[in-house]
Parts: sequence; structure tokens; C-alpha cells
Amino acid sequence: MAVDPVCKMSVEPAKAAAQSTYKGRTYYFCAVGCKQKFDREPEKYVGEPQP
Ligand SMILES: [Zn+2]
Repeated sequence: MAVDPVCKMSVEPAKAAAQSTYKGRTYYFCAVGCKQKFDREPEKYVGEPQP
């Protein structure tokens, strides 16, 4: 299972409504709306500490 980074819901990759690749990683979303939010500000959702 993958986790939708926008709403934190568990998403089965095969059934994901949308997916997006950011910095070489693939993220799966429960809905197209979540992907659109992610694509607008991916760094807000990936949550990686900034150097
Ligand atoms: Zn979602």
C-alpha cells in the first residue's frame, strides 16, 4: 500500500485515481483533486526536511 501524501489515506497503487512523480519517487492519490494539490506544491506534502 502507498499513502496519499495529501490526505494521508492508504491507496492501493493498482487502484489509485492518479499518480505523480516527484524527485524520482512515484506518489499515488485517492482522487484527482489530491494529485492537483500535490502538483501545485509538492514540497509541502513530501515533508522532507530542507537542508
Ligand atoms: Zn487523497
